[in-house]
Amino acid sequence: MARLTTLSNKQVMNNLCDASNKTKLLASDEDLRLSALRDLNVSASLHEERFDRIVRLAATHFHMPVCKISIIDHDRNWYKASIGTEEEECARSSSICNYAIRSDEPLIVPDLSCDPRFSALPQVAGGQKFRFYAGAPVILDNGARVGSLCLMDVIPHPHISREDIQFLVDLSGIVSRELMSQQNSAQKIQELIDYDPLTRLHSRMFIQGKMQAAIVEAKKANTRMAAICIDIDDFTEINDIHGHFFGDQFIQAFSARIADLAAPNIIPGRLSGDKFLLIVTDIRSQAELEKISSSILNHLSKQLQIEDALFQSSCCIGVVMGPPEDGKAITLQKYADCALQEAKVNGKNSIRHFTKRHYQAAMTRKQLTEDLKSANLDQELELNYQPFMDLQTNKVVGYEALLRWRHPSKGLLFPDVFIQIAEKTGMIGVIGEWVLNRACKDAALWQDNQFVSVNLSPSQFRNQNIVEQIKRALSISGLDPQRLEVEITENALISDFEMVNSRLRDLSTLGVSIALDDFGIGYSSLSYLAALKFDKIKIDKFFIDRIDTDSKIRKIILMIARLAKSIDTTIVAEGVEKSFQHDIIKELGCKVGQGYLYGKPMPLNSNKESI
Ligand code: C2E
Ligand code: CA
Ligand code: CA
Repeated sequence: MARLTTLSNKQVMNNLCDASNKTKLLASDEDLRLSALRDLNVSASLHEERFDRIVRLAATHFHMPVCKISIIDHDRNWYKASIGTEEEECARSSSICNYAIRSDEPLIVPDLSCDPRFSALPQVAGGQKFRFYAGAPVILDNGARVGSLCLMDVIPHPHISREDIQFLVDLSGIVSRELMSQQNSAQKIQELIDYDPLTRLHSRMFIQGKMQAAIVEAKKANTRMAAICIDIDDFTEINDIHGHFFGDQFIQAFSARIADLAAPNIIPGRLSGDKFLLIVTDIRSQAELEKISSSILNHLSKQLQIEDALFQSSCCIGVVMGPPEDGKAITLQKYADCALQEAKVNGKNSIRHFTKRHYQAAMTRKQLTEDLKSANLDQELELNYQPFMDLQTNKVVGYEALLRWRHPSKGLLFPDVFIQIAEKTGMIGVIGEWVLNRACKDAALWQDNQFVSVNLSPSQFRNQNIVEQIKRALSISGLDPQRLEVEITENALISDFEMVNSRLRDLSTLGVSIALDDFGIGYSSLSYLAALKFDKIKIDKFFIDRIDTDSKIRKIILMIARLAKSIDTTIVAEGVEKSFQHDIIKELGCKVGQGYLYGKPMPLNSNKESI
């Protein structure tokens, strides 16, 4: 050992006694120490070179046969690294290092056999017969002494220099920093696991774990808790229209709103994409849960600020009261998701509370999704045609193609059951193309130049191949483009104006007519009518249903008819069922009628005579 200034054996012992008297380990210190040790997440089994290097360096510098980085656990003393000993651990009760952690000062014992505290310990009195011990506590930043860096020898060392003691203390400081740097990276990894990097909300894994804990707690305390699943409306469109960078900003702004909801009894998290989950605990009644979920929807329906602009956002919410009978978080999440799907089916900005009926509906939808994916389109899809009546001549001028799915076991299904599924799964692309091809082929065989009108989903219209698809359908069938009409809804238009305008122009150039479907129930923006060229506007059945009872509705139709006339657009009334409705729409200036009064949608063969 390098010896510069030396302390006598007695001085060292005195210092030691002072220090250890000052600092007996209190129970609370021990709790702090053990919790700090747990947080370090340090593993006994993992050998790490950086710690091995420290014990090698210390043993060489001090010419000591044994050097260890000792960690004092609840009842064990194990070694993170060691040199000169095969032993990996010993009982805390027989550990000398256990004394070294009682003070911030190093513990130097020049001759263990002379110290009554240690002389009877197995390491001293037993086979190894250690005589010397020097250990500097490993002290973390929070003051917790989790172990020591110690040197041992089988011969006593009566004199130890101050510099050597200081060097030992410095080395133990390095051990402490290394342990904490490991903790920092472990903390970082934990953060990555617990938090979603885009939104800083709790991650899926975290929130699912919390839900399981909340379920266990609720079962134990016989209380109620709930899971609330949230999904942003039309997020796919937002991404398609504005791009993914904006999509991310939108998610971030929306997530900040979700984060506002955090409360002692509410934990919010992000499941994936535009889907979020809240866990609510301590709920007293269904009424209280309904109140909470309504106020959540209210809070989330406010405008979002993204950069300098304000955007309207809306979402759907699925709610389920727990704990579930089987006590599983996955079950509760499935139910909340199921209620969410029901809310989505109902339309934007909806809330649904889970019922067994929702579950059945969700299961059916899931089955239909699978069935649609594997359907043989040519065998299972068919088109019905519903006539358009010219109100002046009382003649059928064309037909709207309406899709049906002849399901192998469920029979004939209507579009409200499967179009949304097709849109969600992206299958609308192939299905829509099938409809276009079949409708054009069918119409090519009709006489009297009647036209066929085909519905296009918003995503179909936005697909850049749509014009090519239409050209192909026309060329394969040989149908005159003048006899093809496409129907789009306003949802297809809320998008990049230039793209919409150029697509509409391309279609017009082909000679295909364009009808604006379901007018009046969506945004009904007159600016669309002024800026874009439509050949027809179809007034939704909602208006026709109320035409005799609501004079305001009659005025609206009259106004739209006048506007249409001035921009050279034909007005079509949808859902005409009664003859008085026919009389009124005719009088108000509608040129074409469609509805059960003139003919229901029928398979091609049934309409053969009229076609
Ligand atoms: P839509 O385009 O508004 O079609 C009119 C719907 O109203 C049709 O329902 C039709 O059968 C029904 N209808 C027509 N006249 C009357 C009436 O007088 N009274 C009543 N109560 N209903 C009437 P359908 O065939 O069930 O289609 C529903 C919706 O499914 C369509 O609404 C359309 O949005 C969509 N759809 C149908 N076929 C296709 C398709 O090939 N592609 C796409 N993307 N959507 C389609
Ligand atoms: Ca339509
Ligand atoms: Ca319609």
